[in-house]
Amino acid sequence: MDLFEYQGKQYFARFGIPISKGGVADTVEEAVAQAEASGYPVVVKAQVKVGGRGKAGGVKLAADVDEVRTHAGNILGLDIKGHVVKRLWVEHASDIDKEYYASFTLDRSAKKHLGMLSAEGGVEIEEVAVTNPDAIALLHVDPVDGLSLEAAREWVDRANLDEPARAQAAELLVKLYTCYTEGDCDLAEINPLILTPEGKVHALDAKVTLDDNAAYRHPEWDDFAGSDVEDERETRAKERGLNYIGLEGSVGIIANGAALEVINSDPAVRSIFVNIFGGITRVDEVAKGVLEALDRVEISSPIVLRLDGTNAVAGREILADHLSDRLVAEPTMLDAARRAVALAGGKS
Ligand code: GDP
Ligand code: MN
Repeated sequence: MDLFEYQGKQYFARFGIPISKGGVADTVEEAVAQAEASGYPVVVKAQVKVGGRGKAGGVKLAADVDEVRTHAGNILGLDIKGHVVKRLWVEHASDIDKEYYASFTLDRSAKKHLGMLSAEGGVEIEEVAVTNPDAIALLHVDPVDGLSLEAAREWVDRANLDEPARAQAAELLVKLYTCYTEGDCDLAEINPLILTPEGKVHALDAKVTLDDNAAYRHPEWDDFAGSDVEDERETRAKERGLNYIGLEGSVGIIANGAALEVINSDPAVRSIFVNIFGGITRVDEVAKGVLEALDRVEISSPIVLRLDGTNAVAGREILADHLSDRLVAEPTMLDAARRAVALAGGKS
């Protein structure tokens, strides 16, 4: 589950990460009230779960009540990359000396946590990764060892943060790591992490993705879930204990489990690609599952199956009598992908 910035900041605050004083507002008058409470100047920020709000006009500084009214009025209802702004976060504005970047995520291939730290924050980190990859200091953290203050200090030195920021940044990074691990995040990102002219380091933005698999030990996360209108497809999948991610494009992809009914309900999907390499899941069981699903529901799109792995031969035999131009089997992933694209009406 992705959090809004204001929720991410509240989560950070729980772990002692410094943030600016502020509050949420759903109307212009609420924005004014939050501005008065936070103290001018303030920054009025669109709460949408998409990056690049600043560039899209969703982050504005306001020196007085008139400017708060103007900006709040403009930002509420603004469409940012398809996300309509319904809520604002209004916080006391900071003076910025330097903008840094800091994040933790999981590096699956290394089987370790991966910290990224850069003195070149504020801009999109993907941009830095392309134009100046050396400006990002990476740190792999073994989950068994955790992140010590000493290791964080070395990391901050390596990333070349400005001298007055280093000690505070190291402490903050240990807190961010604790938030990421104990708080069960898939991603905890601060961009920008700032150094103020007064020499204070704190988080100006928050991007947090919670690990849904850990929700059972976080009853407090219910507050986060309730505040968001979920994608209907994702809700329907969740009711069945499945994960569904609504994407652009017209090929529905099933990588696991019997998600056919959910994918079938997505009006954008025009062909369905079932790509199973059976390991623990046996292919003959998958084949039976597909046939059962076809019996139960009217599938509106042609299905392309690529079934390989454990019991693949038995699986293909089960399907043999049922193949048609609406149910196609291909031997390899590439063939199947091409076929799915062709059936969706695209070029392959
Ligand atoms: P994003 O564009 O969605 O990543 O939103 P951010 O919260 O990162 O804000 C975008 C930019 O607005 C930041 O990189 C800052 O340059 C600027 N900004 C945000 N808050 C403040 C603030 O309190 N003071 C000042 N001076 N600039 C701010
Ligand atoms: Mn940002």
